[in-house]
Amino acid sequence: MFLNLSVHSRVNVLNSLVFLGFMTNLMYLQDAYVREFDATVVSVEGKYVVLDSTLFYAVGGGQPHDEGVLTCNNKDYNVMFVKKIGPDVSHEVDHEGLKVGDLVHGVLDWGRRYRLMRYHTACHVLSAVLHNQTGALITGNQLDVDKARVDFNLDDFSREKIEQFVVLANEALATDAVVKVYSLSKDVVLQDATLVKLAKKEFLDKLEIVRIVEIGSIDKQADGGTHVKSLKEVGTISLLKIENKGKNNRRVYFTLL
Ligand SMILES: [Zn+2]
Repeated sequence: MFLNLSVHSRVNVLNSLVFLGFMTNLMYLQDAYVREFDATVVSVEGKYVVLDSTLFYAVGGGQPHDEGVLTCNNKDYNVMFVKKIGPDVSHEVDHEGLKVGDLVHGVLDWGRRYRLMRYHTACHVLSAVLHNQTGALITGNQLDVDKARVDFNLDDFSREKIEQFVVLANEALATDAVVKVYSLSKDVVLQDATLVKLAKKEFLDKLEIVRIVEIGSIDKQADGGTHVKSLKEVGTISLLKIENKGKNNRRVYFTLL
């Protein structure tokens, strides 16, 4: 069905949106580097605005929402928060005034988004090392603009061990491995346990087509987030601290240098 799995397919990504049931076209799934877009307002409730298309990432999967500005008729509306509500992406702006049918020009706060992209890709690389070295599954993660947290289940947990994994992750980050995004059918994903390193796999229930983020030969992972194109953009992981929240929640905090 998919003739060239290694090439990012717009059609397949759009299909996955249909299966997810989203009415808003999530343009960031196709190209994480586009910073500006035009869209039409399709619904408004006070300061909460839904567009037909958006580049603003809605909070989810451990990745915070994007920020930026929507401009209409020379008036700026700052985007404060972005959230999925049912089939739509709701943009909370700082004041009312937008109406259904308005044409808006959106511009992302690119500094914020790009940092989140670097942290997201770094999380995948570190998670892949943890998984490959120990079989640990990821039980949670939270990105921020200046640090990130990964939680995983693991019996043998010590700062010394984690530092060894960070060294391995940084060796991978020192390469210019390419990050590719494409889609696979759920049947294919279910046959390859390495494609889902999350302990909770329920999100697959709703999908027929699954978006995959592949990082060189280091990692392949079902994912809906935004990533850099090459590992050389990420930087170096520096371990901040580890926390033991029980066998299923070993926590690692890191920052990027
Ligand atoms: Zn991810």
